[in-house]
Amino acid sequence: MSKLVPPHGSSELKPLLLEGQARQDELKKAQGLKRVPMTSRETGDLIMMGIGAFTPLDGFMGKADWQGCCDSFTMPSKNNLFWPIPITLSAEQALADSIALGEEVQLWDTETEEIMGTMKVTEKYTIDKEHECKQVFKTTDLAHPGVQKVMEQAPVNLAGPVKVLSESFFPEMFPGIYQRPAESRKMFEERGWNTVAALQLRNPMHGSHAYLAWIAIEVCDGVYIHQLVGKLKPGDIPAEVRVKAIDALVNKYFRKDRVIQGGYPMEMRYAGPREALLHALFRQNYGCSHLIVGRDHAGVGDYYGPFDAQKIFNEIPAGSLRLQPLAMDWTFYCYECGSMASMKTCPHSSKAVIDDEGNYKGGARLLLSGTMLRKLMSEGKPVPAEFSKPEVIAVLKEYYDNLENKVEVKLHKAATGEK
Ligand SMILES: [Zn+2]
Repeated sequence: MSKLVPPHGSSELKPLLLEGQARQDELKKAQGLKRVPMTSRETGDLIMMGIGAFTPLDGFMGKADWQGCCDSFTMPSKNNLFWPIPITLSAEQALADSIALGEEVQLWDTETEEIMGTMKVTEKYTIDKEHECKQVFKTTDLAHPGVQKVMEQAPVNLAGPVKVLSESFFPEMFPGIYQRPAESRKMFEERGWNTVAALQLRNPMHGSHAYLAWIAIEVCDGVYIHQLVGKLKPGDIPAEVRVKAIDALVNKYFRKDRVIQGGYPMEMRYAGPREALLHALFRQNYGCSHLIVGRDHAGVGDYYGPFDAQKIFNEIPAGSLRLQPLAMDWTFYCYECGSMASMKTCPHSSKAVIDDEGNYKGGARLLLSGTMLRKLMSEGKPVPAEFSKPEVIAVLKEYYDNLENKVEVKLHKAATGEK
């Protein structure tokens, strides 16, 4: 009997992916159905449902659940079970009008041009997009990448149960990294872990992340370094490079029996606190009892307070999730402490000064951030040795040296520690 945390709102995982002959038969049927194109976000969500990461969803949400998620974190169709962000599918008006209720449609990924699944359309509805943005993103600013995606959605939402037919390119592109929740649970059980902390990553794993992972191992049986292999913003480091950098770090600095690296296909929404809750929910499905929530989890720009994503776990109704957050303060290397430290432990308030050559010129705290690391490297500047292990720097350097179209990384004020 597994001692791992149970899936969300269910005693077992609910993967909606068909396999074998059932998949072949459904795929054949799908070819004759009306085609509903999906954005990369919608495709990512569909795959999450396919692999059981969005247990216990049956498909894309109807209006009552959309409203419930926006306003009270609940799904009326599931006994008001907790859910923090609407999972919806949109379609153009003419296409929606042509689909009858009860009709089955083909779900088609616009980017890969692949049939990803089928859905029995049980509801068609329109939403107040601005309301969704205000509730989920706390802003309607179109410069916010998550808001932009919602505002660009087609006007009608289609809801209904889905059958998933493909995991897209993920299994092939990230072998051994891309995992289904049933696989991660099995690996945790094989190692005898009962408590597992997930470390969410979308940037290269630098010194602060490693520090958080070691702390998690001290308090849990193991750490699941779980990174996004779905879509990011332009300028972010691609997943394959991040995977390589994590390998370099884990191989040399972690006990193999205490760490597992994995990847998941969902796209970032950059919804800060609300997304931290969604990250927690699907990590519970992956078998994790804890989620490390550091500074500005899943945020972008300066839309969220640095610890809003920790506070929100105290604002949702008790018992919403079985997973618990591991709230961590802002961590950094401190030249005075001579080690990694956090705002909670380090009494030295001065900021370390690093010159343009990457040399230490005095002061205490070297505030590490993925954004700052990206900026230094994309400009070809040296990175202080305390920023990350040399093996990681080497992997990233190779990437930047080969990058033809260097994207200027804007260093927003949060990353400089001036906030
Ligand atoms: Zn210190």
